[in-house]
Amino acid sequence: MAEIRWIAETLFDDLGFRMSYQVDKVLYEMQTEHQHLVLFEHPFFGKMLMLDGATQITKRDEFIYQEMMSHVPLFAHGQAREVLIIGGGDCGIAEEVLKHKSVKRLTQVEIDAAVIEFSKEHFPEFTKPVFADKRFESVIEDGMKYVARTERRFDAIIVDSTDPQGPGKVLFSQKFYAACKRCMNKGAVLVTQNGVPMFQPNELASSVAKFRRLFADGACYVAAIPTYIGGHMGMGWASDDRRLRQTPVKALAARYRKAGAFSTRYWTPEVHAAAFALPRFIADVVAKARPRR
Ligand code: SAM
Repeated sequence: MAEIRWIAETLFDDLGFRMSYQVDKVLYEMQTEHQHLVLFEHPFFGKMLMLDGATQITKRDEFIYQEMMSHVPLFAHGQAREVLIIGGGDCGIAEEVLKHKSVKRLTQVEIDAAVIEFSKEHFPEFTKPVFADKRFESVIEDGMKYVARTERRFDAIIVDSTDPQGPGKVLFSQKFYAACKRCMNKGAVLVTQNGVPMFQPNELASSVAKFRRLFADGACYVAAIPTYIGGHMGMGWASDDRRLRQTPVKALAARYRKAGAFSTRYWTPEVHAAAFALPRFIADVVAKARPRR
């Protein structure tokens, strides 16, 4: 009887625990220029991608994160035409963004060409419609360098990054958020992948504090993603338009109908509004996020 291989997520080693996944088959494994990449088949979660020992995406639950990182900023904004994704190499978020016909141009800036190439092979359900869409532009570059140099201006910026380690570290810095603000249109919104508050409270607090130094409104919203271990996932929110975060359910529902009420499996107008109602322990983390002058 062949020995079963297990792959551990090592992201929380410093907290003294690991999540291990049984491996049915390793589909792809390599050390890219920027990070260690492994894709494997899991009996329950299906295809699973890990970068540097951190779970990025699984076929079973990817829809939750992808929908909340794309439809919340776009339906809150209501008329986003120019959208920027930083990271997002698997193209799952790009696929959701392009469901919004109001979006005229979507630019994705991913640092690691290997992630895009391998996603074309292993996540065609995302990459095929995305790369076939004339509105889509793929740029291989460090997101920090791109937002520091671009002359483009955006209505929504979605930072679908890895955790603040390796190439992803700079995407949690003050200078990155300041450079994002520089290329945002009036009334634009910035959302960020910000970890799980139960295990990574400082990551969320530090980002929100930096947002509050730059924007009128710095906050977060939450969703529960089974393979982002730790209960709620925190998604950072920054905008100079304080009203966006309080968009009423009625207005969200009307915008959804106007957008053709395309299929979703997690996002609804009610779930959208509720995502900003934070459990007290997370609200406390965010409340304490004071920008140091
Ligand atoms: N949803 C996942 C999560 O929450 O952990 C993230 C998925 S996506 C695959 C993360 C992408 O960010 C990776 O493809 C990685 O190469 C990219 N990335 C990391 N640092 C980057 C940087 N500085 N500029 C652009 N892309 C970066």
